[in-house]
Amino acid sequence: MKKEITETVIKVVSICDICLGMTPYTVCMICKKDLCENCRVIDKRDYSDYPPHYCQKCWDIGTPYRKQENEAQEVCDTAFEDIWVAWKKEATKDLTD
Ligand SMILES: [Zn+2]
Ligand SMILES: [Zn+2]
Repeated sequence: MKKEITETVIKVVSICDICLGMTPYTVCMICKKDLCENCRVIDKRDYSDYPPHYCQKCWDIGTPYRKQENEAQEVCDTAFEDIWVAWKKEATKDLTD
């Protein structure tokens, strides 16, 4: 009997790039590695529904950068506050009370 292969099933088994065990749940925002739920790190400063995820390595490397980001944010917030105060002052200067 002549045998013929009629169908080949290619199964893509995806596993977490970090623990090589669990099924990936997300990807690292920086290195794009597949991450399972246990291996992802979430930036707690982001309260949105879809905060970015990172692998532990990228997260750890980012520690000084996140500090810089926070400082830049503070400077920016202060600048916006100053502009708002100046705007309000200008707009209300004719008001007597
Ligand atoms: Zn994992
Ligand atoms: Zn990463």
